Amino acid sequence: MRLKFWTILIESALLIVAVVGIASAINIWQNSSSYPDGGCQQTLVVGKSVKGISIEACQLNGSNPDAENTLLVIGTIHGDEPDGKRVIVELEASGTPKNTNIWLIRDGNPDGANLATRRNANEVDINRNFPIKWKPSDPLARTYSGPSPASEPETLALMNAVTTIKPTRIVVFHQPYAQIDCPPERSTAISDRLSQLTGFKSECIPGEKSGSPTNTYTGTFTIWANATFPETTAVTFELGLTTMDAKIHTIAKAMRTIAADPSS
Ligand SMILES: [Zn+2]
Repeated sequence: MRLKFWTILIESALLIVAVVGIASAINIWQNSSSYPDGGCQQTLVVGKSVKGISIEACQLNGSNPDAENTLLVIGTIHGDEPDGKRVIVELEASGTPKNTNIWLIRDGNPDGANLATRRNANEVDINRNFPIKWKPSDPLARTYSGPSPASEPETLALMNAVTTIKPTRIVVFHQPYAQIDCPPERSTAISDRLSQLTGFKSECIPGEKSGSPTNTYTGTFTIWANATFPETTAVTFELGLTTMDAKIHTIAKAMRTIAADPSS
């Protein structure tokens, strides 16, 4: 009787040890294979659209402000090019990898998105309105540059975001050329890295090549960011006309990877 009591006690103790061991193993496995919960650890209202919609920047949950690099990802500037926002939604669903600092602006032109048009509610192309190499243009053109440099609140909002967040790397999504553009005034290192990670080709959009006499682009976000902030590399990522969900997933993963890549 006494022997049976001790047998049951020892068996129970072993069972408890086994259960605790398995539970902690599962816990360690979960922690090492997933990011912190999604959402923002900080949200900044960087400006408003013409129609008064807030333009917000989200610092992803788990971000480390002291990380070597700060990545800013902008989902869209042109209202009729919505697919970059799908990358942002995917990134927002989980936090950052360890020792990275990731900021997201889902929509740089919410009025344009609501109107399903490239330009903003003043019919200005934000991506020709930045105060660098700005040129006047035909108000009826789809690339109308506005009445003056940085005349539009959305332009000012994005300028405010970069000035406040001080990103070292910026990726801004467009459509539909399906290529990663070479950043004006910078090496193609980040474009090439993104190409390797996503399968999109890394190639200068004609007219955008740094220092090229054929550079015909004026007042774009990337020209402005690269010319104004020596520590920043801003890259245009042109998605295709349509993008499969699996590819959006791959691109979101690539954003996390380049946030963690050390500076070369
Ligand atoms: Zn565009």
